[in-house]
Amino acid sequence: MNFTEFAFHPRIAAGIQAAGYTQPTPIQARALGPALQGRDIMGLAQTGTGKTAAFVLPILQRLIHRSEKSCRALIIAPTRELAQQTHQAIETLGRRTGLRSATVYGGVSIHQQIQNLKRGADIVVACPGRLLDHVGRKSLDLTRIEMLVIDEADQMLDMGFLPDVRRILACLPQQRQNMLFSATMPDEIRTLADNLLKDPVTVQINAAKPADTVQHALFPVAAHLKTPLLFKLLHGNDALSVLVFTRTKHRAKRLGEQLARAGYRSASLQGNLSQNRRQAALDGFRDGTFQILVATDIAARGIDVAKVSHVINYDVPSTTDAYIHRIGRTGRATCSGDAFTLVTEEDGAMVRAIDRVIGHRVERRTLPDFDYRARSQEPDTVRASAPRPRRAAPPSPNPFARKSASGRFAGNSPSYRGGR
Ligand code: AMP
Repeated sequence: MNFTEFAFHPRIAAGIQAAGYTQPTPIQARALGPALQGRDIMGLAQTGTGKTAAFVLPILQRLIHRSEKSCRALIIAPTRELAQQTHQAIETLGRRTGLRSATVYGGVSIHQQIQNLKRGADIVVACPGRLLDHVGRKSLDLTRIEMLVIDEADQMLDMGFLPDVRRILACLPQQRQNMLFSATMPDEIRTLADNLLKDPVTVQINAAKPADTVQHALFPVAAHLKTPLLFKLLHGNDALSVLVFTRTKHRAKRLGEQLARAGYRSASLQGNLSQNRRQAALDGFRDGTFQILVATDIAARGIDVAKVSHVINYDVPSTTDAYIHRIGRTGRATCSGDAFTLVTEEDGAMVRAIDRVIGHRVERRTLPDFDYRARSQEPDTVRASAPRPRRAAPPSPNPFARKSASGRFAGNSPSYRGGR
């Protein structure tokens, strides 16, 4: 299938080309047709499937014939990062359309947003709380909305935003096209969908299994040696783009600092950061200024960074869904990637669950030149219990030395050391 089949306006086709898209992704192939006809859409898909363009392109196509500089399309997103990313996708795909998009989210000055809205925006990408602030101040008029998108609805639910979303829905005109996207379908989202969508076309992109382009490995290690093992894994590799997941904000922050102190170009992304610092961390990771980004699940939810070479689960995720979600950041499209998970003895149940979801026993790796019996090398990661020696799996070489199928990273570079 080709984008020409959808007969996009030439200015939108130019945007698609500028974005470098040649073929629609599966969700686009299935959702674009009905969405362009004005049908309501229920999209069961997560980040990484190309869902953003699946709703942005129909919005552009509908609005391009008549730019009124009043808000006619509203996209609601759970996090500032997702809102910002969606806005950027609109800017890229709509660069030749003359249509304007504005973002509305908390954590930054409302006055600048009011100025932006005054200048006229055809599309508003918003987080629920700040959107309601603007509605209350009458700085945003929602009475001309023709298209509504609720993105990552299940995340909206997890973050407690559904009451705000319902309040927003009450401000919208009845006659409009609705698109709802969610990675999962808990009961509350099913109810929201039933109330919101009229005769929807449901498009489900199964992401239950991770992409074949991802290679998985588990690294058994004592809890107090996780940080040294992480450093060992990273040692000497500068060309990589590594997303590290931790369970807590505190740990993300501390690990980011430890990596930076050791000379790595690293940053952390966690909920306690100011909006500016979050954006700087994300932008820096995207443009390669930071080689390593340490994040929590919540902070990283929805973020889209092309070409993550490695996802490292410093802490195991709490569910297999979270595992799939985390590693969905690597091995995208035609790139291959690696998903490494540090596992301790306490993680047995999760390890079995990961094996099940991958469909086979995931490779267990040990590093031949790592001292698994060492006492703590990181004073602040010491645990009360002494390390117990592990039964070693067959040794494998430096896990990063293997060149990926895409040849994306060159291998070892001497310039950054996991300096201990
Ligand atoms: P999303 O799931 O919308 O966050 O998109 C994931 C990534 O896929 C983004 O970097 C998009 O730019 C990219 N993408 C979306 N559609 C296509 C396409 N048709 N061809 C290639 N890349 C795409």
